[in-house]
Amino acid sequence: MEFLLQMLGTGSPRPDLERSGPAQVLFIDDIPVLIDCGEGTTGQLLKAGILPERINHLWLTHLHSDHLFGYAQFLIGGQGNGRRELTVVGPAGTKKYHERTLEMYEEDIRYRLSLGRSPKGLMDVNIIEITEPGEVESDLPVKVTAERMVHNVPTFGYRFEGDGKAVVISGDTAPTDRLIEFARGADILVQDAALTTTSVYTKGENKEFEKVFVNLQKEHCTPAQCGETAEQAGVKKLVLTHFLPGADPEEACREALEVFSGPVIAGEDLQLIKIDE
Ligand SMILES: [Zn+2]
Ligand SMILES: [Zn+2]
Repeated sequence: MEFLLQMLGTGSPRPDLERSGPAQVLFIDDIPVLIDCGEGTTGQLLKAGILPERINHLWLTHLHSDHLFGYAQFLIGGQGNGRRELTVVGPAGTKKYHERTLEMYEEDIRYRLSLGRSPKGLMDVNIIEITEPGEVESDLPVKVTAERMVHNVPTFGYRFEGDGKAVVISGDTAPTDRLIEFARGADILVQDAALTTTSVYTKGENKEFEKVFVNLQKEHCTPAQCGETAEQAGVKKLVLTHFLPGADPEEACREALEVFSGPVIAGEDLQLIKIDE
């Protein structure tokens, strides 16, 4: 079994020309699993050479707007392109979010279906809501477990493992011992490193931003905190993501490397990341 990680969007809620909204694809052999669906996800999929209609599995870490802005386009556009099966896994509220999306575009969808298109893949989406941490039943050929992260809405990190290999996606989180345990020995940990000191929040003159930056420390990690998590968990490779505009990737790596002995990658949009043999 092979895992391959395709970063799609490494940005944040803040619009950024360099970084699309949070999203990545984990290939499990030839099955692409989309994790989060931020703004621009469908375009990023196309740029990465992955047809949106090939994605039959979407896992949402949480229901914040920056991780969801791309959903309507992914759902309706991907179905328009021919996708006829979709499973969406996410925290409680995922079903409501999906149904509201269908409601908002009700007339549009009615028109499209009236053209003779099948409703499959759109009106019969399989939604699985996770309410408790633990193993998640899915039709993926790997074991997937969910763990609760520390964020201001229910947020799950996901661990995909098979054949002795593991990839962990933290979602948004403040530092937590739960993530250290959860990421234990993982080949790749993709972690929220929103709190770079070089972001607009710390560089700018804006007092409002300063206050926001202090409050964000209850919800996200600094690159150094990501490094500490990875070090304590014995992770083999750390991928930093969820960067605010103006974040300096080199400085983020330096900060993480002060505490983590393994390799660190400051994720870039469309970057392909392999598990080292
Ligand atoms: Zn969030
Ligand atoms: Zn976020």
